[in-house]
Amino acid sequence: MKVLKFGGTSIGSVSAIRKVIQIIQKSRQEKIVLVFSAFGKTTDRLIEMAESAVSGQAEESYAILRKTQEYHLDLMQAFLPPGEDRNKLAAQVSGYFANLKQMLTGLAALRDFSPPVRDEFLAHGELLSTTILSTVFRWISLPAVWLDARKIVATDSRFNAAEPKIDRIGQQVEQLLLPELNREAIPVLAGFIGSNRKGRTTTLGRGGSDYTAALLGAILQAQEVQIWTDVDGIMTADPSLVADARSIPVLSFREAAELAYFGARVLHPKTLIPAMEQQIPVRVLNTHRPDGKGTLILPELPPNGQPVRSIAYKEGMTLITIVSSKMFKSYGFLKKITEVFERYQIAIDLIASSIVSVAIALHENVHIKQVIRELQSFGSVGVVEKQAVVCVVGEQIRQKSGIAEQIFAAVHDVPVSMISQGGSEISISFICDEKHLPRVVPELHRTFFSASKSDRMQSHLTYPESVIAGMQP
Ligand code: ADP
Ligand code: ASP
Ligand code: MG
Repeated sequence: MKVLKFGGTSIGSVSAIRKVIQIIQKSRQEKIVLVFSAFGKTTDRLIEMAESAVSGQAEESYAILRKTQEYHLDLMQAFLPPGEDRNKLAAQVSGYFANLKQMLTGLAALRDFSPPVRDEFLAHGELLSTTILSTVFRWISLPAVWLDARKIVATDSRFNAAEPKIDRIGQQVEQLLLPELNREAIPVLAGFIGSNRKGRTTTLGRGGSDYTAALLGAILQAQEVQIWTDVDGIMTADPSLVADARSIPVLSFREAAELAYFGARVLHPKTLIPAMEQQIPVRVLNTHRPDGKGTLILPELPPNGQPVRSIAYKEGMTLITIVSSKMFKSYGFLKKITEVFERYQIAIDLIASSIVSVAIALHENVHIKQVIRELQSFGSVGVVEKQAVVCVVGEQIRQKSGIAEQIFAAVHDVPVSMISQGGSEISISFICDEKHLPRVVPELHRTFFSASKSDRMQSHLTYPESVIAGMQP
């Protein structure tokens, strides 16, 4: 049994959906579970319309809503000819858009887009795509059955970034999903969304459909989780920043998890957690080139002599520094500082301390003002926004000397701070101003993956075919 997840761009147009249908038909020899994101950039459009409404531009928000509705109806009509099925589906789709319109009116009146409302609102993207796709699949005789992901993916109440409750998900999978698989149906589920104990809709954070697929794969003990996207697997760097980035045939769980955590958008940062716990291989594949090999992520890899495997970056970071002479020779100081972040449930991405100062880098900035106010009781606090973390990843990074020197030689003309060798010791990261990223990331890529070194570097990218075959799950 396999879990297949398709991201927004994989289902963003009629031609993309045709490719997805072919992939599903090819995968049908075994049991499959399908997870989908919203169509194309629908989630971004939903955020735009809600923000317009909240800022008092009701007409603008209704205009975006109308366009989004047309987009969905066009996709639906491309696959379903006029008739009863199409009318029934059109009524369902209109129902979802009527809900959205009502919520927009509420947002415009209340001028408040609180986290629970945001989750309820954004969930419509995945509800729409999966409702439409499951009907289209049935029309072409695939035995698809739509399951309500909100009833299966039980979470806590941390709206916008909910944590799954594995035990409850396991029970729901047994009750609602397994019977469908057992009768040879193909379950179709919305990624990204779930619900809390009270039945209120939650989401797993932007890009969360990958996480849904991995959670289901782990609970179902799937043979493999496939993440179908718009690039040839995980690459040596973000291809939108580095034109000659290359795909990496195999990565270890730890490497892929580190890359995802440090910003490689191709996977939601938490995707590898359930897969690692249950040792379920994850394959990242390109919907537009389905015969490509993509990237296979496996529990362990034999060393292949190449320490650096990929470079990730994450923008929108805030760097906070606390300078205090009280720190000198005192203990418990760091704990008191981290407790402030804990109270506001803010995750710290990187931390470094010296004898009289602590530097902390974070991605979240909700409650940041309150945090800074509290930190000021410890010493003088500096805040720099629009920072980025750049992370060089590879299992053998610490076995090879000189990697740090190569990194800092490559970025010698850019001011960097908070240099850190991750606790897992498979990465080296640093902070710089995000405006330097278009120079820093390609330069690092040239250092470790340049064409002139291609022979030597190819060996890190490719294991011999025989080795890869032996690694297949
Ligand atoms: P989906 O809609 O399929 O979930 P995403 O946009 O979330 O797709 O993720 C795919 C994108 O991730 C790619 O188009 C690419 O620009 C970006 N990306 C960032 N880092 C990497 C990387 N190291 N390898 C591959 N893609 C990456
Ligand atoms: N549609 C959601 C988003 O755009 C979830 C996902 O695509 O995985 O963030
Ligand atoms: Mg994604």
